Amino acid sequence: MKNIFRIFSIFLPILCLSSCGLQSAHLANQPVQSVDTAMGTVIQQNIYLKEENETITDDILKEITDLEETVLSRRLDSAELYQVNEAAEDREEIRISESLAAILSSCQQVEKDSDGAFDLTIGDVVELWDIDDYAGQENPEGYQLPKQSAITEALAHTGYEKVELQENLLHLPKDMKLDLGAVGKGVALTNIRQSLGEDSSVEGAVISVGGSILTYGAKPDGSSWKVAIVNPRDTASSIGYLDITGDWCISTSGDYERYVEVDGVRYHHILNPKTGYPADSGLSAVTVLSKDGLLSDALSTACFVLGEEKAVKLAEAYDADVLFVDCEGNVTMTEGMKPYFHPMK
Ligand code: FAD
Ligand code: MG
Repeated sequence: MKNIFRIFSIFLPILCLSSCGLQSAHLANQPVQSVDTAMGTVIQQNIYLKEENETITDDILKEITDLEETVLSRRLDSAELYQVNEAAEDREEIRISESLAAILSSCQQVEKDSDGAFDLTIGDVVELWDIDDYAGQENPEGYQLPKQSAITEALAHTGYEKVELQENLLHLPKDMKLDLGAVGKGVALTNIRQSLGEDSSVEGAVISVGGSILTYGAKPDGSSWKVAIVNPRDTASSIGYLDITGDWCISTSGDYERYVEVDGVRYHHILNPKTGYPADSGLSAVTVLSKDGLLSDALSTACFVLGEEKAVKLAEAYDADVLFVDCEGNVTMTEGMKPYFHPMK
């Protein structure tokens, strides 16, 4: 719960940059708003309605929790991913649903193109570091940094190239564990955009699922969406904002989102699959702008691990744009991002 409040404070600036209003205030062109939790993070919704829809924010929240509980979670035994990871302990071939197969197939492409900087098979190493359970604490009681021998052992159970997916048949090596933490929130955004498109009551929306944000449609007054970019070294403030119109997915991966500090050293949650240690590419935060949620989320993680030079090439291949904040606070970005980014004055 402590994590949730910490994350809440990080994402609050996103709300403050959009209009504020009361529930059911849409008649006055104000958005319907809600703040909830799911997927271990904060869900913020701002939805502009053309006509009455009393259940819209509940419907979207349910869509996110259903996706978590039935498909994506590695923690809940009701979820397909949990069951796949359990099954991999006994047998190598598993029949999976079409929706999970589609997600894994898209991820495989990013795994290849990033040369394994993004790698869903990192589950065992993620569990070993256990940063989610201790995040936000300095010298957390009971927390022990993993030993090199344990990291080496866990790394032996990783490697995207060892996974085979043929239609709905998944071949996982024994003891391998998949983790969709780097991409699940983006998948949720893609699904939500589809649902909003099928709902004639919705004119426009900004929906954030943790560090991944969807902008959809338009505001009634025609003004643009403004999405804050958090300052990684002072998460209550922002370094600037993206000024965009229409449908976009924006995902940020940062070393400030989840970390433990042990003896003054920060160990964050984005791991380099080659070393098994927190990625150390000189970056503090990476924001990716893409038309697709799965891609914005997967690429933000991949780019964070790769470092700026390789990240720019990867993003180009996906027609995505990227903004980088390095560990000294320097801000750089791809050419395509420049028209959208406005630094805070
Ligand atoms: P991102 O960069 O998008 O992802 C980092 C995460 O991806 C890491 O935490 C790790 O899980 C994984 N990862 C690390 N390195 C790599 C790599 N190189 N390649 C691929 N993956 C990598 N958190 C909780 O504390 N409790 C929960 O109950 C919980 N449930 C969740 C359920 C779902 C369906 C999902 C998707 C996530 C859940 N989380 C939960 C995790 C949490 O919400 C975030 O996903 C996590 O903090 C990382 O998100 P991010 O945007 O900060 O970083
Ligand atoms: Mg990600």
